[in-house]
Amino acid sequence: MKKAIFPGSFDPITLGHVDIINRGVTLFDEIIIAIGENSSKDFMFSLEQRINFIERKFKDNPKVRVMNYSGLTIDFCKEVGVDFILRGLRNPVDFEFEKAMAQTNRHLSALETVFLLTSSQTSFISSSIVREIISHGGDFKKLVPNSVSL
Ligand code: ADP
Repeated sequence: MKKAIFPGSFDPITLGHVDIINRGVTLFDEIIIAIGENSSKDFMFSLEQRINFIERKFKDNPKVRVMNYSGLTIDFCKEVGVDFILRGLRNPVDFEFEKAMAQTNRHLSALETVFLLTSSQTSFISSSIVREIISHGGDFKKLVPNSVSL
């Protein structure tokens, strides 16, 4: 069974993430959405809220599950027996960062990172833009799945 983890902060999950996940399940038998607990980051939504938004969105898809982890992504992959990391690419900035990350992970483990290029309809969406809109009381609903609420 081919399994991948899709790691990130998902603060909150956006339609960009949803696009990558929906396309990822056509390539893998199972996708574990892995919420990294990074203590140096200030999150807008609690871990429970972030998990809840994702679980509600994918409740009817048995190939998608949500977990949280702390520490290195490669260690978490070993722990859950996953050989692939799924990531999305939006632009050259993502590419440079992701390249260094994937090569480091590959250097330290046998893990392969699989990239999906963002869809044109969602390429501009990021969790940080969504948080910015929310903090100014704007209409963020068009950028996130229905399960995301304040
Ligand atoms: P991180 O905290 O690692 O930046 P995010 O939660 O922001 O994580 O994103 C997780 C993954 O989703 C990353 O691979 C990121 O490139 C990808 N991603 C985020 N937004 C989009 C989008 N609009 N289109 C495609 N991929 C995206």
